[in-house]
Amino acid sequence: MLVAVLGAGYAGLTLARTLERNLPAEAELVVVDESTDHLVQHELHRVVRRPGLADEITVSLADTLDCEVRQATVTAVDADAGEATLETPDGATETLNYDVGAVCLGARTAFYGLDGVREHATPLKRLADAREIRREFLGLADGDRAVVGGAGLSGVQVAGELAALADEREMDIEVCLLEQAPEVAPAFPASFQRAVHDALLDAGVSVRTGTAVDHAESERITLANGSDLDYGQFVWTGGITGSSALSADRPVVRADLRLGDVTFAVGDAVRIVDSDGQAVPASASAAIRAATVAADNIAALVNHRRGGSGFEPRLSRYRFNVPGWLVSVGDDAVAKVGPTVLTGRPALALKTTVGAGYLGSVGAIREATDLVREELDIGDKSAGEAVPDDIIDVSETE
Ligand SMILES: Cc1cc2nc3c(=O)[nH]c(=O)nc-3n(C[C@H](O)[C@H](O)[C@H](O)COP(=O)(O)OP(=O)(O)OC[C@H]3O[C@@H](n4cnc5c(N)ncnc54)[C@H](O)[C@@H]3O)c2cc1C
Repeated sequence: MLVAVLGAGYAGLTLARTLERNLPAEAELVVVDESTDHLVQHELHRVVRRPGLADEITVSLADTLDCEVRQATVTAVDADAGEATLETPDGATETLNYDVGAVCLGARTAFYGLDGVREHATPLKRLADAREIRREFLGLADGDRAVVGGAGLSGVQVAGELAALADEREMDIEVCLLEQAPEVAPAFPASFQRAVHDALLDAGVSVRTGTAVDHAESERITLANGSDLDYGQFVWTGGITGSSALSADRPVVRADLRLGDVTFAVGDAVRIVDSDGQAVPASASAAIRAATVAADNIAALVNHRRGGSGFEPRLSRYRFNVPGWLVSVGDDAVAKVGPTVLTGRPALALKTTVGAGYLGSVGAIREATDLVREELDIGDKSAGEAVPDDIIDVSETE
């Protein structure tokens, strides 16, 4: 019996590592990813300022998994038949037939058909993007403006990095963060939004909420209100769209995470509606937690199929429940833990611990310790005015 995990990001790697422990010995496990490495995407923005961090946030799949890892691009999935079409690195097309599988292919940047945005803006999804953003920023002249479009988790954090990079290099650059919603971090609780907004202002980012991009030309963005904004650099973090391997754009899966007869789906590739009927935000934290439920369900289905006929097993249901949210804003950070929002050094330490804890959980111990060292160095350098030593509880209420 073959179990296939398609994609090895947060969802796929967590799922595969859990299945390595949970599956019966006769089940074979294969992981397919277009890359040979797992990318710790929630730290990707750090590479814009600290290119050396690329090593700490890149984990070899072969080193962390014992099962077969196949490098290929998944171009189509038949979730009922258990069939994935693969394109190998040498351009050949192969079919992978599996008994039970999971789609964990993540998402791509959405440009929403806005004229000129795909052509002129740089997205932030891959290491190459982070390096390109750094290269473009360092090529700016004093007085230029760097515009970041979209103030979700990635937009907030890359704007913070650019502002900190400008400070470090003593560059006179305006970093401008645009968000069409009335608040930054639109999918998150109000107390978190306020603290993130304040941290961005403290970092020197100019924040424009309620401001939508209409179209872009090579040096000018036209906003939906008709006004123009000149730029020297344009970074686009305005949203996500699903994998082209799926016939629908981020199809909805219910709490049992079932995409088709023999296929489950986890992470940004799909829109999960949890057991309370709540839409789950696209995030690493949700992807990791949902993956453990998918692992239970895959193991249940495998055991059922081994046993022959009979009713299908009752599947576990995912309930969205994360302890909190964390973002970095340059050398500062904002953490929401329960009802309390923290900023400053405690929040930064928490973010580092969470990042390192995740790396440790996927077996990347060296990367985990290196990340802590690098990040705490950042903290030490900035101790003092920029990062207060006390916990700042900015809100106890939502
Ligand atoms: C800069 C940035 C900062 C972020 N910060 C946070 C944060 O602070 N907290 C948080 O919770 N979330 C954060 N996120 C969001 C988080 O990274 C995503 O929600 C998370 O990566 C989703 O996990 P995933 O496993 O679904 O997809 P991914 O992690 O994107 O993994 C998808 C995997 O599938 C592979 N793949 C994709 N397409 C194919 C294909 N066709 N064939 C084969 N393989 C394929 C990819 O190589 C990759 O390994 C951030 C994202 C960015 C970009």
